Amino acid sequence: MKIIFATGNRGKLNEATGILGEGFNLVTPADMGITEEIPETGNSLAANSVQKAKYIYDKTGCDCFADDSGLEVEILGGAPGVYTARYAGGDGHDFEANMDKLLDEMQKAAREAAAARSMGISTPHATRRAQFRTVVTLILGGKVTSFEGVLKGKISLAKSGTKGFGYDPVFIADEYPENTLAEVSLEQKNEISHRGKALRAMAEYLQTLEK
Ligand code: IMP
Repeated sequence: MKIIFATGNRGKLNEATGILGEGFNLVTPADMGITEEIPETGNSLAANSVQKAKYIYDKTGCDCFADDSGLEVEILGGAPGVYTARYAGGDGHDFEANMDKLLDEMQKAAREAAAARSMGISTPHATRRAQFRTVVTLILGGKVTSFEGVLKGKISLAKSGTKGFGYDPVFIADEYPENTLAEVSLEQKNEISHRGKALRAMAEYLQTLEK
């Protein structure tokens, strides 16, 4: 099946190609001559995911899907969430700056909680627990359907590993407690990842339509 994946992110494209397998011929917006940044101005992952898919569908009229993912960290009250890509400002491509800011903000939050506790003020139980969440939106013959995937884990104390992209060097999935996502293989990551779960749900849905 030929379908456009509304992304300019190579890391995501590689993952989706591995997850969806041979039955899918993934085309990118750039392949269709769409080179501008796809707008994502919504206030939730779901809204951004729908916005990106609709943008490509309106431009091409072709079947397509988009994903929007975010990192939700407990001690930061669910931040950076919808702001994950641009957490440190800029265009969202500076993964190092984003991770540095995340580790700084978590240290600050932990210090503030400890100071409050030392003054006898009870603070909500907050740990390094975190999750990645992805919403994939499929537009097929004009019909919009969304799928969600979650990967639970925690944020490491320091960056480690060179594989993957984004926040992978600071995310430790529950399934691989000894390694960050940037230290496991792409196949291992795809088996458990938020994007893997959401994309496999989309693939299963497409298979049910074929029957
Ligand atoms: P987007 O808006 O869906 O492109 O994703 C927001 C940001 O989340 C990306 O720029 C990455 O920094 C981060 N992100 C999404 N998925 C992953 C992942 O699988 N590993 C690490 N970071 C990710």
